[in-house]
Amino acid sequence: MKSLEDIHRIAVIGAGTMGQGIAQVAAQAGHEVLLYDVSADMLALAQKLIDKNLTKAVELGKLRAEEKEASLQRIRVAHDLTSLQVDLVIEAIVEKLEVKQKLFASLEAINSPETIFASNTSSIPITQIAAGLKHPERVVGMHFFNPAHIMKLVEVISGADTHKSVAQLVADLSLKWGKKPVFAQDAPGFIVNRVARHYYVESLKLVEENVTDFATVDRLLESSGFKMGPFRLMDLIGVDTNFSVTSSMFASFHYEAKFRPSRIQQQKVDAGHHGRKTGKGFYTYE
Ligand code: NAD
Repeated sequence: MKSLEDIHRIAVIGAGTMGQGIAQVAAQAGHEVLLYDVSADMLALAQKLIDKNLTKAVELGKLRAEEKEASLQRIRVAHDLTSLQVDLVIEAIVEKLEVKQKLFASLEAINSPETIFASNTSSIPITQIAAGLKHPERVVGMHFFNPAHIMKLVEVISGADTHKSVAQLVADLSLKWGKKPVFAQDAPGFIVNRVARHYYVESLKLVEENVTDFATVDRLLESSGFKMGPFRLMDLIGVDTNFSVTSSMFASFHYEAKFRPSRIQQQKVDAGHHGRKTGKGFYTYE
């Protein structure tokens, strides 16, 4: 099994909302980062947004200009999955079990059995992601929060076969990166998303039942102490991603009504109103 000192080269797979921040954090911590996505456009956008984040940090006096340049130099985009021979993979692609399983199977074929496979899944049990792999003991949940370059919490999730040392290594690495790791056993939605699901689902129900409108729900929740109202938060997360997470948990909990995805949210997804990343979700963005 690998130890903390063995983690040099990292592949971040998926250059969307989460992959961008994770790649930035890993590069700032001194790792060589290979950023891969099926979409060349997303890779280009990710490089632009990481540059923007780091520039802002320099302007705020939190980072030296040389550190920004060095971090950017450490991130290389990869256009070919077969080039990803690394010490650690952090997967941040779509929240779909079959797609994640297929990706890890491809990566297993080209990496040593020692390479650690971490998934940033919000809800899919790690045991299911690892099922079918030759080495399920190296698969672990490494669940960052959005925005990943700012939020401190990382849930470290062990599946049924995850080796203790793998979970420990990922927790130690998170600490080294300035994060606050918390261990969790495997369950759909783990800890935070299991509880938070009802924040979204119930708010959507209120609007679906015409009890009130979404902006009022946000305003009331924010004035009662929540940092972000549920609709503003869904726009930040990605309405599509949030919908996939609810759908995955609905299935995992054997279609318990309390996790049923909302028609309003489905419609937003169908219309491409995915939130901040598309310029429009529940709210509109410049
Ligand atoms: P996103 O839609 O912003 O980005 C996903 C990226 O993955 C896209 O750029 C897409 O092109 C790429 N992709 C899809 N299939 C791929 C494949 N087979 N190989 C390589 N790239 C592929 O999604 P996101 O919000 O960054 O979420 C990614 C993961 O992180 C999901 O599992 C999600 O549940 C989890 N997550 C999301 C948040 C959040 O707030 N958005 C927070 C924590 C965890």
